[in-house]
Amino acid sequence: MGKTLAEKIIGSHAEKSAIGGTPSGGEVTAGEIALVNVDVCLTQDGTGPLAIRQLQKINLEKAANPKRTVLFLDHAAPSPRRELANDHITIRKFAEKTKACLSEVGEGVCHQIIAESYLNPGDILIGADSHTCTGGALCAFATGMGSTDVAIGIALGKTWLRVPETFKVEVNGKFQEGVYPKDLILHFIGMIGADGATYKALEFCGEAIDKMSMSGRFTLSNMAVEAGAKAGLIASDDITKEFLRQQGRVSKFKKLEPDKDAIYEKVIEIDASELVPVVSFPHTVDNVKLINEACGIKIDQVFIGTCTNGRLEDLKVVVQIIQGKKKHPKTRLIVVPASKSVFLEAMKTGYIRTLVEFGAAIMAPGCGPCVGVHEGILGDGEACLATMNRNFKGRMGNPEGFIYLASPATAAATAIAGEIADPRDFLVKKKLKKKTVKAKKR
Ligand code: SF4
Repeated sequence: MGKTLAEKIIGSHAEKSAIGGTPSGGEVTAGEIALVNVDVCLTQDGTGPLAIRQLQKINLEKAANPKRTVLFLDHAAPSPRRELANDHITIRKFAEKTKACLSEVGEGVCHQIIAESYLNPGDILIGADSHTCTGGALCAFATGMGSTDVAIGIALGKTWLRVPETFKVEVNGKFQEGVYPKDLILHFIGMIGADGATYKALEFCGEAIDKMSMSGRFTLSNMAVEAGAKAGLIASDDITKEFLRQQGRVSKFKKLEPDKDAIYEKVIEIDASELVPVVSFPHTVDNVKLINEACGIKIDQVFIGTCTNGRLEDLKVVVQIIQGKKKHPKTRLIVVPASKSVFLEAMKTGYIRTLVEFGAAIMAPGCGPCVGVHEGILGDGEACLATMNRNFKGRMGNPEGFIYLASPATAAATAIAGEIADPRDFLVKKKLKKKTVKAKKR
């Protein structure tokens, strides 16, 4: 019987059946429960201390695979409060004791660093953070778990998984100008609902995915959990291989694709050419509306960054739109590169200079204001348009704040206009301007 990507990857790591079913020797089927070896484990500074305390409690303070156990200081980094600074000390001590890898303040967001430096196609990654699913773009079975589950994964190098059923999400057609993978995933979540794919694996495929950059693919996989999914997988191909080559580990490339006769619980088809920019309205991610319903809403703060849209390609899109323009005087702009290497490249390319001259406040690589502990907490009644993945009430540190989610292009257009704006207007104007200059030269 044909296998989905989730079945293939979990099967290749399965030791034996834990409860029910008969998986062993590399064969598992959706619905079965398998005991699997884990390749990579991650915690962040919110969840790491809980995991460490659990291991201390049961006298199991060790890492089975220290070179691929990564403890991140990214959510509240640099620390804004004494208790959080003390949590950082706990994490640093654990890393020292177990020889696990420590990703220090300023290195960047866990999911970006994991993609840049640790995760390979065919791996199983468990992380004490819900957006661990980002790694599915590299064709790894990457999934978020609670701190105690990840603690045991760290110590023993194993976990158990119920093999999820898979929804195939086939995206064909070509994106229109001004429409991006973020619009696609928000559209998808709006269509299916926040619990539309609970505990399913999503498999993104089709010609629009085949042509999509790794950066765009990470955005899709990152938000799989916002539809309730356990994982968001994409088959590995030449684009995956090139990404690994750029990260210095092309030898880790493995071509993985689902079988032609794989069994899917559902097939969802989307025509990318019909998509337009969209915005998630407060206070749920699936409250998605077309850009024309959002245009004109006053915005106090624009936030560009996070594990969803804080990569170089995202900053490039922003810079293309803001170049030669002025930020709206009543709208703040916060930009947080997703990692140190993104930051360095953005400096090299001149993006940071353009952003600063435009009026952006640039923060150290990390989560920034995404989780609401520092660096941009909203005031009462204030509205923020962000490139992040969640807009729950209170997410940015104030339940009286309002968060709208959109693509980096929409964020850039909004920072110029001071109200939610359609990025296509700015891109079209730029094109017209170029044409006029050319015509004058002739
Ligand atoms: Fe979580 Fe935001 Fe950090 Fe991503 S950037 S890991 S969503 S807090």
